[in-house]
Amino acid sequence: MKIGILALQGDFEAHWKALRELDVDAILVRHAWQLGELDGLIIPGGESTTMLKLMMSEGLFEALREFGQRKPIFGTCAGAILLARRVTNPEQESLGLMDIEIERNAYGRQIDSRVAPVRLLPPLSDEREGGQIEGVFIRAPIIRRVGPTVRVLATYAGDPVLVEDSLHLAATFHPELSRDRLIHRQFIQKVGGLSG
Ligand code: GLN
Repeated sequence: MKIGILALQGDFEAHWKALRELDVDAILVRHAWQLGELDGLIIPGGESTTMLKLMMSEGLFEALREFGQRKPIFGTCAGAILLARRVTNPEQESLGLMDIEIERNAYGRQIDSRVAPVRLLPPLSDEREGGQIEGVFIRAPIIRRVGPTVRVLATYAGDPVLVEDSLHLAATFHPELSRDRLIHRQFIQKVGGLSG
């Protein structure tokens, strides 16, 4: 199984380490031609506006849009913003691969970043004691709307923070910065199930 991590900007190294712990040697992706050999891709956290600009200048925007029609993508934080159909605060272009609407920096400046328990929903709720995992939120967005084909897998303060559809997975927090590998394992299973 070949998983790539978009390595234009942001915390791609933390994802690389997380996958390494699960015995997956990921490929750092900086060019469109690298997508051809991949079964799945992670778009890390960082600054979505910067990532978007770099994607455009590398010819990756269209290539990723096309890749995401067929292959699974896991987006964390800025990555989730890039996957969304609609982005607000302010409005910005995105890949539009998941039927979600997302508001950037939605927790406001004062409570910029925090570590808080995230509530797992079925089928993940039995995976961890108390049905919770740690969520690291850094200038996080809030998912304001999910379409009918999108399933909510975890919430924080009543808002969806981990969502999936038949191909993609998006988290508004940073599972790569916690010890628990539940969410990365979930993505690997998704990739395995689809490429198998
Ligand atoms: N605030 C960033 C953005 O809007 C996302 C932050 C993150 O990825 N940790 O793109």
